[in-house]
Amino acid sequence: MARQIDLHAHSTASDGTLAPAALMRRAHAAGVDVMALTDHDTLSGLDEAALEARRLDMEFVPGVEVSVTWRAATIHVVGLNIDPRCELLIGGLARLQAFRDWRAEEIGRRLAAAGIDGAFEGARARSNGRLISRTHFARFLVDNGRAPDVRAVFRKFLVNGKPGFVAGQWAGLEDAVGWIRAAGGQAVIAHPARYAMTRTRLKQLLGEFVAVGGEGIEVVSGSHSRDDYLTMAHLARTSGLLASAGSDYHGPEHPWVELGRLPPLPDGCKPIWKDWSITN
Ligand code: AMP
Ligand code: MN
Ligand code: MN
Ligand code: MN
Repeated sequence: MARQIDLHAHSTASDGTLAPAALMRRAHAAGVDVMALTDHDTLSGLDEAALEARRLDMEFVPGVEVSVTWRAATIHVVGLNIDPRCELLIGGLARLQAFRDWRAEEIGRRLAAAGIDGAFEGARARSNGRLISRTHFARFLVDNGRAPDVRAVFRKFLVNGKPGFVAGQWAGLEDAVGWIRAAGGQAVIAHPARYAMTRTRLKQLLGEFVAVGGEGIEVVSGSHSRDDYLTMAHLARTSGLLASAGSDYHGPEHPWVELGRLPPLPDGCKPIWKDWSITN
């Protein structure tokens, strides 16, 4: 059977619902052979995940998913095989975490102005003292009956034009790629089909990404359709990018994505792991 390689997932260090060790156990039980942890803008789950993966004898890829503002759009850049002790990366992420802290209070103020009290406190309580994401606001709003599920609540409150939206002021593309490279990692454009971009604009993004040292693009993703796999495989080839695969798993409460179910990369893709010394 083909190896299961999953290079994108979240834990309670950001907006996942499983602790890093529990995530590794679930991945192992689901038959994953090579598992990354890529929390949003933080490295704080990596030590725990690495330890548990070693205990399970499963290959572990230390990663991060960096929030980036590119031409007023928010995009995500995954860093794979990063050294979590890299000061440049740590310092860059600290700035994003500070923005998140301010943004969380601002989202709280805006929702209060729209008649929803206690959202900041509710989101903070759901983040367990770690990084606060819009997902934590979404869970608070669902628990308060504002919408039936996380997806609906995003549409109603947390996206551009809605009461709880605050524009991102994330890392620049070149900075994000620079931090990842400084940490010895490979930079990968996450879930490209999720950005509401024209093909022309997406190609511009990929061109700039390659120019600043980006190396990969997620072709197979938990948030891609089968058509998206083929589209992105083609874009990977024509842009000279390596192909990555990741579930973007956030926990069992988000049942539309499960671990251990990723299909193989389409034919003609060069995998991002082609030069890695993975053994099993
Ligand atoms: P943040 O980085 O705090 O702005 O939150 C972004 C996270 O929110 C993403 O990584 C997803 O986990 C989640 N998210 C974004 N849009 C949606 C959506 N439409 N439905 C469900 N979750 C979403
Ligand atoms: Mn997320
Ligand atoms: Mn993402
Ligand atoms: Mn993600």
